[in-house]
Amino acid sequence: MENPPGVGELTPPDRTLLGPGPSPVHPRVLRAMSTPLVGHLDPAFVDIMDETQDLLRYAFRTENEWTLPVSGTGSAAMEAAIGNLVEPGETMLVPTNGYFGGRMAEMARRAGGEVVHVDAPWGEPLDPADVQDAFDAHQPDVFGFVHAETSTGVRQPQVPELTRIAHSHDALVVADTVTSLGGVELRVDDWNIDAAYAGPQKCLSCPPGASPLTLNDDAMDKVLSRDTPSRSWYLDLSLLEGYWGDERAYHHTAPVTNVYALREALRLVAEEGIEERWARHRRVAGALKSGVEAMGLELEPDDDYWLPSLNAVRVPDGVTDTGVIDYLRDHYDLEIAGGLGDLDGEIFRIGCMGHGAREKNVAFLLTALADALDSLGADVDPAGGIDAARDSL
Ligand SMILES: *Cc1c(COP(=O)(O)O)cnc(C)c1O
Repeated sequence: MENPPGVGELTPPDRTLLGPGPSPVHPRVLRAMSTPLVGHLDPAFVDIMDETQDLLRYAFRTENEWTLPVSGTGSAAMEAAIGNLVEPGETMLVPTNGYFGGRMAEMARRAGGEVVHVDAPWGEPLDPADVQDAFDAHQPDVFGFVHAETSTGVRQPQVPELTRIAHSHDALVVADTVTSLGGVELRVDDWNIDAAYAGPQKCLSCPPGASPLTLNDDAMDKVLSRDTPSRSWYLDLSLLEGYWGDERAYHHTAPVTNVYALREALRLVAEEGIEERWARHRRVAGALKSGVEAMGLELEPDDDYWLPSLNAVRVPDGVTDTGVIDYLRDHYDLEIAGGLGDLDGEIFRIGCMGHGAREKNVAFLLTALADALDSLGADVDPAGGIDAARDSL
């Protein structure tokens, strides 16, 4: 039989992925994904599950028993956390300083919760004093914050201060660590975060599909003592406990291949050492930052809350974001992204994540970006980027 007309062999372009995710996948992870499948209840797979959970605890810096990959993308882990921790009628406090705080609010509403806000402009972190005021005003049951806001390139500092405020009001804290896990300093236990979720395709350099989630005993006690079951059957953590906990009973078929991939990606994290990995992201992204600044571009966030894994660079006069993004894709097979929401058209978002956070990618990006800006007539002097990056390294 012939192939259906027009559908040829799969040959997607060979892009260098320096956008907000997915990031470049490590060859060892790709190889793990071509490993033959076993059944999701096979004793061999149960061992693989245990190892993956141990490696996740290492990356999250936690002893939490409740540490598992959720089947689905980062948003699935996000909805598992919020949908199980927010009960109907409860109040969740969420930030307004980026795109993903808005998604938290939407999920809390769908869980039957009331949403209240703590404000900060897009491009700035939350101020603990404002969080304190919001707690005094609203007495929320759950507080969500975004540790690494991929829409703005802002890293939330002072996390222990935020969790202290929440706990003094008997609230649980949910952290979005999608763009920090494995790339930026994150200490779930030391910082007293009750629940944290992440995604595999950012700093872990793994394809999307199985997404890290960890909950401490306080959070899990709340999940297991809910008055009504979570509205999602698929993401009900009290049911997932049966599969990822001691029982290992069927709930749904685990994405076996994605678990293989995540295990290998996390093995790479452990081999490198988590602190060394954080340092590499700072060093390589620091060179990228020096380079773009030397070209006359402006890096958006202040140094105090700069997020190495996602660099927000202001679009210079004389060009449009889409003009530059298209040029890089068409001439260099290089992916970066534009802004979202309040920052649409204002910034480029340049990822420096996992296997992408390498010196050769900085040199490539700076060269390609200089060409794009020069060719398209930006009002900057694009020379000198590479020298500055080299000095920084
Ligand atoms: C990417 C991202 C998500 C959502 O993850 P998906 O894998 O796209 O579902 C959530 N929060 C942040 C901060 C992200 O960067």
